Amino acid sequence: MDYLPLHFDLSDRLVLVVGGGTVASRKVDLLLQAGARVRLVAPVVDDTLRQQLADGHEIIEAHYDRQYLEGVVLVVGATSDPVVNSRISGDAQEKSIPVNVVDAPALCTVVFPAIVDRSPVLLSIGSSGTSPVLSRHLRLLLEQALPDGISRLAQYLKGKRQWLKQIWPDVDQRRRITEQFMSSPGMNYALEGRFEAADEYLSDADAAIVQGEVYLVGGGPGDPDLLTLKALQLLQLADVILYDNLVSDKVLNRARRDAYKEFVGKRSGYQSMQQENINELLVRLAREGKRVLRLKGGDPFIFGRGGEEIEALVAEQIPFQVVPGITAASGCAAYAGIPLTHRDYSQSVRFVTGHPRDGDVNLSWNELVSPNQTIVFYMGLGGLASICRHLTEHGLAVDTPVAVVSRGTTPEQKVVRGSLNTITGLVASAQVETPTLIIIGQVVSLYQNHPMNLPGTRPPNHS
Ligand code: SAH
Repeated sequence: MDYLPLHFDLSDRLVLVVGGGTVASRKVDLLLQAGARVRLVAPVVDDTLRQQLADGHEIIEAHYDRQYLEGVVLVVGATSDPVVNSRISGDAQEKSIPVNVVDAPALCTVVFPAIVDRSPVLLSIGSSGTSPVLSRHLRLLLEQALPDGISRLAQYLKGKRQWLKQIWPDVDQRRRITEQFMSSPGMNYALEGRFEAADEYLSDADAAIVQGEVYLVGGGPGDPDLLTLKALQLLQLADVILYDNLVSDKVLNRARRDAYKEFVGKRSGYQSMQQENINELLVRLAREGKRVLRLKGGDPFIFGRGGEEIEALVAEQIPFQVVPGITAASGCAAYAGIPLTHRDYSQSVRFVTGHPRDGDVNLSWNELVSPNQTIVFYMGLGGLASICRHLTEHGLAVDTPVAVVSRGTTPEQKVVRGSLNTITGLVASAQVETPTLIIIGQVVSLYQNHPMNLPGTRPPNHS
């Protein structure tokens, strides 16, 4: 995060604006809406500004001087002179006063976000100075997405705050009651301004909360945009999130900020939590009334031990939901431009665990060597040499194409291509990083000059 968004209470506080034209006027307009007192300094002041600042504000017709910083909590530089702007910024920073210079990000310690104003609800959107156009575009989308009555709903909840506090002094419980209300028809009544009808749902909200739940959620292979909508909704709702090492930080960042997050995966050098302990933890937290989200890489039911976790929940009668995710095979194949099946080359695909035991991979190799099939090995990097040897010994051609996809769907994605007799050497010299997926079959050689979905690449041109 390059900036921390804060909402600044400016009511009756003094703000210095330097500049006498349209740019200054636009900023003054915003500052006045926030209830600030404005001190305007400029040798020439246009009429609009004079009208805006007619009551209770200061207009000083002079060149900027640092003495005008006295007593102000924020400075806005809006002159067309870069030298003056730079002095304003330097002086303000010396006195630790937040400063914004219009259109000069390097001189700012604070920036004005794009705003969606449904007071008391305010959404501020920033692009860390990269693109004001992008921020404004997002603002437009949000304006359209927000229901009209959002101000009424906010007023309603504000009015209920004290009452809620008295009845449910515990902050966690209060939050759960309010969330329950928000997913009831009561919220719609409040949006429409029908507050008495809304009251009924608010009073009943505690009865609707029975006990905690567990959500077993697939977090996909790495790119956070591959999360399902349902996964996102639950990530925003959960009180506790237990996650694995395959879950990327970017995915975790989509979770509710104040959810309690605990890592329960394997990490080299650390003692990892045993599966039974994870199962027990899920049960205990749900019994405490928490909404627990178990977040796994890819899909929870594909080499994800999801089956074992729900067994424990079923046994203990804990309500749960399973949310599928995009499994590594689908994600990596798509982003590497490898279709897992193809009418001409491969009529079936198999997902296989390639985890070696004592250096060897033991599988029913005879079933795997059909030429018109794609095989995807999960957890197979350590056993790559053994996999290739077994497949060729059982009759698969040595020139069968193989791709090893490392950190698929992330900006660090790397694809090493070769064939059964070359891939081990190629991977060794390319030093690929985990997690890696191995894809074997004729489909691997299709579209190989057209990496897909990664920043800066285009889909293949079939013309
Ligand atoms: N449940 C997960 C798989 C867990 S097993 C899923 O459905 O994807 C762990 C294995 O998944 C890793 O050893 C690796 O083979 C594969 N994997 C997971 N994410 C990956 C990624 N981003 N890139 C490459 N392989 C990945």
